[in-house]
Amino acid sequence: MSNDYERFSHIEVAGNAILPLVRAITVDALTKALLNKVGLSDIQPSQFYPLSSHLTLLADVDRRMPTVLKRAGEFIASEALFPPEIQTFEHFLAAINTVYLLQHRGYEEGEIGQYKFSKESDTVFIMVDDIPYPCRFDEGMYLGFAKRFGVGISLEHQGDSCRRKGDKQCSFRIELK
Ligand SMILES: [Zn+2]
Repeated sequence: MSNDYERFSHIEVAGNAILPLVRAITVDALTKALLNKVGLSDIQPSQFYPLSSHLTLLADVDRRMPTVLKRAGEFIASEALFPPEIQTFEHFLAAINTVYLLQHRGYEEGEIGQYKFSKESDTVFIMVDDIPYPCRFDEGMYLGFAKRFGVGISLEHQGDSCRRKGDKQCSFRIELK
């Protein structure tokens, strides 16, 4: 995947969307050099930061420490706040796109991609997304939220298309167990 995130430099992302990654990196005792390199030290949850810096950091972590990226997705799940109407894992999957968009500002419609939720059956959900974040982050997030809502899932990155290879989108098949 190209790291040309300059095209996102006018868009900002909320600090509370960055903090789980910061925490996951710290847990793994990697030096803070990675954070400093992109100017993301001392993140405040209610502030906004350049999305291009956040994406550069994510791509860096994805390359060096893929398991950390997955863990960051899981941290998001354990700490995220969401509206009371979201009471099940399925509600959550259907609402991810709204939550994702709320964490960013300054973008034009369609510019930062989206999550699309669909159902194959009552127990099989398909999530397709074309957001600029790495798909390992999605993977961790789906696993983490399943845990948070107390459901067992099997998760499969399906099809050949993958953003890691520079494709436009990734698709996950999530089956409740
Ligand atoms: Zn992928």
